[in-house]
Amino acid sequence: LTSWNFKQEKTVIDLGDGVKVGGDQLTVMAGPCSVENREQIIETAKIVKAGGAQILRGGAFKPRTSPYSFQGLGEEGLKLMAEAREETGLKIVTELMDIEHIDVVCKYTDIIQIGARNMQNYSLLKEIGKLDKPVMLKRGMAATIKEWLLAAEYVMNNGNHDVILCERGVRTFGEETRNTMDLSSIPLVQQLSHLPVIADPSHGTGRWELVIPVARAAVAVGADGVMVEVHPDPQNALSDGPQSLKPKNYHLMMDEIKAINNSL
Ligand code: PEP
Ligand code: MN
Repeated sequence: LTSWNFKQEKTVIDLGDGVKVGGDQLTVMAGPCSVENREQIIETAKIVKAGGAQILRGGAFKPRTSPYSFQGLGEEGLKLMAEAREETGLKIVTELMDIEHIDVVCKYTDIIQIGARNMQNYSLLKEIGKLDKPVMLKRGMAATIKEWLLAAEYVMNNGNHDVILCERGVRTFGEETRNTMDLSSIPLVQQLSHLPVIADPSHGTGRWELVIPVARAAVAVGADGVMVEVHPDPQNALSDGPQSLKPKNYHLMMDEIKAINNSL
């Protein structure tokens, strides 16, 4: 179902109000790793909107490596995301971690994010396959292209064909970056599949200094969009501060990627 044999036109996911993923226009999703409080998410949403992105990201249910780290605000965070959407007109994307939270996440979000750690959670994939809600499926941190596309098949084969793929880097041997951003997977997957493919250079590198150059590269190789983490005060972020762009650098990134793909 993911392949060009099944469908000969590119999948375009229409979120309404002129926001599309996979269409002629580059899609930018930006926002904090986690929703932390009202002021933080509303302020970030305004910055994200002003820079020209169409979608606000923000986690409310967080898959943290340590159980002692901030776990997210849960439904309270989703309500704040919805408030930020009201305030700015941006669409929203947030992660769904468990089957038990499907209803609450769907109530608020425009796109369900399935994180790298859940890419092969087949029971979760089957359930989201039954929904009428776009899904962004991140590549697992050790997933091959074939495994990633087969994970998308799980969603589509249950009826939901609105799938966006997101390359977020894979784990290799280096210690200087959090992951190794696999830029070649973007055109490769586009050659194999009609689904839109976006790039996440924030998790792909783990370092804010590398986010702008890798975002430029992702747009240059033809990504349908980029997702980046932006925080008004990265040093005090409750998660992923080291890879979050300050507002000034987010604006710089937007200017630079618009110079490469002028559809935005
Ligand atoms: C995220 O987008 O905040 C996230 C947890 O990403 P990943 O699943 O790619 O690690
Ligand atoms: Mn993050």
